[in-house]
Amino acid sequence: MTDLPLIPHWADGRPLDGSSSRRGDVTNPATGEVTAQVAFAGAEDAERVIGSARAAARGWAETSVSARTQVVFRFRELLNQRKEELAAIITREHGKVTADALGEVSRGQEVVEFACGIPHLLKGGYSENVSTGVDVHSKRQPMGVVGVISPFNFPAMVPMWFFPVAIATGNTVVLKPSEKDPSASLWMAELWREAGLPDGVFNVLQGDKEAVDALLDHPDVKAISFVGSTPIARYVYERGSGNGKRVQALGGAKNHMVVLPDADLDLAADQAVSAGFGSAGERCMAISVLVAVGPVGDELVAKVADRTRGLRTGDGTRGTDMGPLVTRAHRDKVASYVEEGETAGAKVVVDGREVQPDGAAEGFWLGPTLFDNVSPDMSIYREEIFGPVLNVVRVDSYDEAVRLVNANPYGNGVAVFTSSGGAARKFEVDVEVGMIGVNVPIPVPMAYYSFGGWKNSLFGDSHAHGTEGVHFFTRGKVVTSRWGDPAVKPTGGLELAFPQNK
Ligand code: NAD
Repeated sequence: MTDLPLIPHWADGRPLDGSSSRRGDVTNPATGEVTAQVAFAGAEDAERVIGSARAAARGWAETSVSARTQVVFRFRELLNQRKEELAAIITREHGKVTADALGEVSRGQEVVEFACGIPHLLKGGYSENVSTGVDVHSKRQPMGVVGVISPFNFPAMVPMWFFPVAIATGNTVVLKPSEKDPSASLWMAELWREAGLPDGVFNVLQGDKEAVDALLDHPDVKAISFVGSTPIARYVYERGSGNGKRVQALGGAKNHMVVLPDADLDLAADQAVSAGFGSAGERCMAISVLVAVGPVGDELVAKVADRTRGLRTGDGTRGTDMGPLVTRAHRDKVASYVEEGETAGAKVVVDGREVQPDGAAEGFWLGPTLFDNVSPDMSIYREEIFGPVLNVVRVDSYDEAVRLVNANPYGNGVAVFTSSGGAARKFEVDVEVGMIGVNVPIPVPMAYYSFGGWKNSLFGDSHAHGTEGVHFFTRGKVVTSRWGDPAVKPTGGLELAFPQNK
């Protein structure tokens, strides 16, 4: 037993401690302190939480679309008023700096705002008289209970990529947050309650693999939205779809930023440093490879190095630029990549291991590291590091840059920096990547477009939010109907040939 607070599940509109005795530690990465324990669901807890979602499913699906939208709108209003509270929770458990945590909440809020327009997005089609006296209409209906499984790096935004759309379209949700920073999920659950969401429509199942497997195997869960690392995404996709569920599983990334010789190098250097080291590189859209094309290499590296040396690493509540890594184990793993890169012969231009953080000695600190002369066979290039490590790869031509990007097994985001519209347009066509930035390093689509990568960055065929999100959380029906005109005597008779339009 311990005196630490327990972070519970959430079912039937209230916290639920659950019956499993398994727990996980939750830490403050800026101090190294264990601040709470989170419940780890067992089979009984999963049954209870999924049961809460199942019990609410029919009533919510039958609630009018206007009434559903009004609840989503109230959630948006409350979130907007109180977003600082949520940002503080994110900083405390994830470590990202306050401004970045607020940015995360705002990007999630955009999806809530998008979901407020759901009546328009749920409109079906209607065709009159497709055959004499026969009309056709289409409609989309909710899936039922849906599971959302999210990663540690965006404890509020990633769940909000999915649940506003799922709820607005009439589904009930079980969110399985990351066990590393689970408190944001409960804060959002309380907010839904205040917004007037009926009990059981939004639920939280805390835990690890056991909780995930329960969602993947439970027959009442009809769809799964997963975000996390590629091996787990592939596993979730295969197990969930093998059980007959609809699954979208977003995986890891290795995002390149290609700098062409005609680029504005000051702009490129600013953006590379912001996108490489923001959130300590713990973003699936972080730039981790800077591809310097032709003669720009030396000047670009010098400008990036200057800016990197100026970054202040420290406690995210103190106005620093970059916070700690999420856990000590992750910090050590990222530091081991820095060692591997050095041993493999990459040039360490700025060494994050030498950081002097503005924060407690026990925090999970690693400063920004800049490598030059990285080659594609090195582990620091091949693997997703998910930390503050920016690799410069030098290539001779545009074609070589595109070949490098396309040979990479990931295809989440990519950016090109250039002053040529023609070059940018060609790049957009040539690269095999889902989200492309032109002089924009982190091209996260707005809520009304859809978010998702290609290749090993996404398993399944639907991206998150936007119209693809609406499609993912609904099933289509097409109704063909014949209603006789009461003034006209019906003509009947048998006809066994396949129905044709008349
Ligand atoms: P992770 O894969 O370790 O965990 C993601 C979720 O899966 C968590 O809820 C976790 O509890 C669960 N999980 C962990 N191990 C499991 C297992 N063996 N079986 C079943 N479930 C398991 O990822 P993370 O470390 O929390 O997040 C970072 C990763 O997420 C990075 O790879 C990053 O690129 C990726 N990510 C991708 C996107 C995207 O949009 N493509 C967005 C954010 C993060």
